[in-house]
Amino acid sequence: MDNFLEEKRLFFCTVCKTSFFTYNFYISHMRIHWGMDIFVCDVCKGSYSQINYLISHMKIHRAR
Ligand SMILES: [Zn+2]
Ligand SMILES: [Zn+2]
Repeated sequence: MDNFLEEKRLFFCTVCKTSFFTYNFYISHMRIHWGMDIFVCDVCKGSYSQINYLISHMKIHRAR
C-alpha cells in the first residue's frame, strides 16, 4: 500500500508554476514575486501585505 503520496497537498505558484510541499516554502517563494514581506496568519493561513492587517485579522481568532 504505497499510497502515502496520494492526496498530498501541493501549493502551486501562480506566477511561475513551481509547486511546493509546504505552505511555508510556498510563502517564502511568493515573496520573490511580490517583492515584499507578507504576514501570514498561523491559524487559517491567510496572508496580508501589512502587519496591521494581520493584527486586525487575528482578533477574529481570539474572539472567544
Ligand atoms: Zn513562482
Ligand atoms: Zn487567520
